[in-house]
Order: sequence, then structure tokens, then C-alpha cells
Amino acid sequence: MSSQEEALKSLLAALEVSPDNIPLRQHVASILFDLERYEEAEFHLTEALKFAPNHVDIKLELAETFFEQEKNSAALVILEELLEQDPPLAKAFLLHAYISFWNGETPQALESYQEAVRLDHGLRDVSFENQLAEKGAASGDPHGGRVPTEYLTEEQPIDQIERPSIKFQDVGGMDDLKEEINLKMIAPMQHPELYQAYGKSIGGGLLMYGPPGCGKTHLARATAGEVRAAFISVGINDILDMWIGNSEKNLHHIFQLARSQAPCVLFFDEVDALGASRTDMKQSGGRHLINQFLSELDGVKYSNEGVLILAATNTPWHMDPAFRRPGRFDRILFVPPPDEAARAAILHLMLKGKPTGKIDYSKLAKKTNGLSGADLKNLIDLTVETKLRESMKTGKPLPIEQADLLKVVSQVRSSTKEWFSTARNYALYSNEGGLYDDILTYLKIKK
Ligand code: ATP
Repeated sequence: MSSQEEALKSLLAALEVSPDNIPLRQHVASILFDLERYEEAEFHLTEALKFAPNHVDIKLELAETFFEQEKNSAALVILEELLEQDPPLAKAFLLHAYISFWNGETPQALESYQEAVRLDHGLRDVSFENQLAEKGAASGDPHGGRVPTEYLTEEQPIDQIERPSIKFQDVGGMDDLKEEINLKMIAPMQHPELYQAYGKSIGGGLLMYGPPGCGKTHLARATAGEVRAAFISVGINDILDMWIGNSEKNLHHIFQLARSQAPCVLFFDEVDALGASRTDMKQSGGRHLINQFLSELDGVKYSNEGVLILAATNTPWHMDPAFRRPGRFDRILFVPPPDEAARAAILHLMLKGKPTGKIDYSKLAKKTNGLSGADLKNLIDLTVETKLRESMKTGKPLPIEQADLLKVVSQVRSSTKEWFSTARNYALYSNEGGLYDDILTYLKIKK
């Protein structure tokens, strides 16, 4: 017999003498619980409650005992009451999280767990967090079970302040976009008095949408280089945080950081993850974040003077229309795959400084129809690799020839096709106010 069991024996004898001794019963129940004799623990806790029906700790212990016996509904009945307690009971929230998770209600589990740990950091359960994260990822829920590596970080550390050296001249094609950015964002910063004279407000943001790899990020970075501004690139998933209120804090911190670095280009990638249509949002937390983003964009509390806000998305149709209101992302620009002239310019840029023979750029541009900037980069990288291998054999850097590039072209597939097949449907059937006319024009469906 273990020492615990021996102690139990004498405690039970003592209980025979004084059955209404509540602390004694609790102690007995806790030993039984540790010995995994849950049914007996349940009995003693139920007995104890007869003498002290409002004893919160005993109720919680009973709920835990139910949970261990998989009597989840019984546990939930008790928890319902315990979750309303004032002051709140952290352990009740934790147990609620476990049961919700067990019942397949991951968002609920997340919310309760979050509350439990907020109330008591010591309750963190890393293996449960991992389970939550796995479930969250599997469900595709952007908030899902994302669990931060650091609990309740006061401020997300941002070591993303760049000083890009590339400029517009390093971006092939995209002339309309460059002009738009110039007119809307760069010129107002350089000639504020002119804009004021015409009563034109300075600021707002520019949203770029289009298939992946077509230069949205590249252009944003070059915009910063063009005006010698700081560049801060933010993936929305970097700021999403499962803890209520933390995402908003992270977002505010990023805006403040950009303001402190002005002139600064603040670039939001995958902005759709944040601006998902508010009606789609199951959790009110998502709405708060959107509202926070909009108010930061509006610059009501803090001025966005000197901050150029650019954002990019591959799925504009998932964005909240509130983003399109004047003063916010009132310009929404389509970034298509590069046209022939742009492809020639991009290839030229990408081969600059590399050993080349005589290259016919316009012919190459013709042969690369439909490829994105990233696909063209892939083409060059693959060709360089082949050439390097050959050069290793000879020990001399062999120049890249037209024929080398043409040989590789057939291996490079356009990565934009899939995007267009989805975009086409949105443009045809959900084209409010001609929002996606540019896509239809690009696909030659509309003139
Ligand atoms: P995603 O939507 O996937 O984020 P994106 O549109 O932001 O893609 P980028 O990351 O800017 O695309 O482009 C991928 C790479 O392709 C860049 O790093 C750059 O090397 C090259 N590239 C794309 N477009 C151009 C361009 N117009 N001029 C020069 N390089 C380009």
C-alpha cells in the first residue's frame, strides 16, 4: 500500500466520525483524484456540497472530476455557473477550454483558454496550445488556433525597418502604377503647398491587387527607395494574435512605428486577411481589428503625415467595402502580369551585370507571354544554374545565350493561370460598380 493510500485510509476513518468536515472531505477527494479514483472523488465532493452548496472550489473540483470521467455535460452544467463568478475563476475557463476542445468547438476552446491564461499566466498549457494551433490550421480559420510564441507580448518587436536601395528604374514596366503612386503619394509629399492650394488632401492609401508574383511588393519597396523613405513591410498574419485586443495593439504599434520613421512607406501584404468582409467574420474580434485599421488609416487620432500606405492582396473580393471609402484605399489598382514591353524590361533588369551573349529581348518577351515577374525570375535563376554547372566543368564563366534562355522557357509554367480562373468569376458575376473591369479588359472579355 502506498503512503498516499495509507493516509487515505486514516482520513476516511476520520470522516466516519465527522462527516460534515468539509476541508477533510476535500482533502480525501483530492487524494482520490490523484490516485485516479474519480468515481470515489465524485462521491465525496457531492457529499461535501450537501453541507456547503455554494462552495465554489468544490464545484470546480467536481467539474474536473466529471471531466476526467468524460461526463462532459455534467461538467458543463457546473461550469456554466462558475464562468459567471465574480471575481472570475481562471481554472473554470481552462476546464471550459478543454471540454470545448474535446467537443470539437475549437473557437470556443480558444476563447476560454485565452481568458484563463489572461487571468492566470501560470495556467499556460503549451501542449494544449499546440493542439489548438493544429486544429486552427486544419480548419483554415485565419484566427484559428494561432498561438503566439510569446504570451501577451506588450508590443510585437518590429525589426523590419528597411532602407531600400532599389528605385522605380529597377521595376520593369508598371508605368501606370508608377505614375499613380507618383501623383497620389510622392508628389504631394514633395510639393505639399501645391496640393493645399487646390484643396487636395494628402494621404490615403493605395491598394494593389492581382495575381501573385507580379511585382506588388517589389514596387512598394521601390517606392520607398524612390523617395529615400523607410520601408516597413507587414504581413497581416504577423499582427494577428489570438489574444483579444492584442492584434489591435500590434497594429497600432506598427502605425506608430511608421509615423515615427516618416517619411516612410508602410506596406501591408495579404491585407485581405484583415479586411475580410465584416459579415464573414464570425468573431467580433475580427471587426474590432478592421475598425482599428480603418481608424489608423483615417489618421484621426494621430496624423499620417509623411506615411505612404500601400497594401496588396491577391483576393480583393474578400475585402471589406469600407476600405474603399475616400481617404482610405480609395485607389484600387490592378497589377496584371507584365505585358510584352514590361517583360523585356524585366528580363533586361534581371540579366544586368551577368555575363551574357547577344540577347534578343523582344523575342524573349514574345516567348514568355503570361509569365509573371516571379516566373521570369525563375526562368533566369534556372538558366543561371544550368550555366553555372557548365562553367564549373570549363572553369570559366560562360555567357548566358539566347538559346539557353529559350531552352528553359518551356520548363517555366505561368503561375498566374489559377488566379485568373478564380478572378474571372468574380469579375463576371460580382463586379459591383465595375470594380473588376480591369480584369475583364485584361482577359479581353470587355473592351
Ligand atoms: P505576391 O502577391 O505573391 O506577394 P507580388 O505581386 O508582391 O507577389 P513580388 O514579390 O513583388 O510579387 O515579385 C516577386 C519577384 O519577382 C520580385 O522579388 C522581383 O524579383 C520579381 N519581379 C516581379 N515583378 C517585377 C518587375 N516589374 N520588375 C522587376 N522584378 C520584378
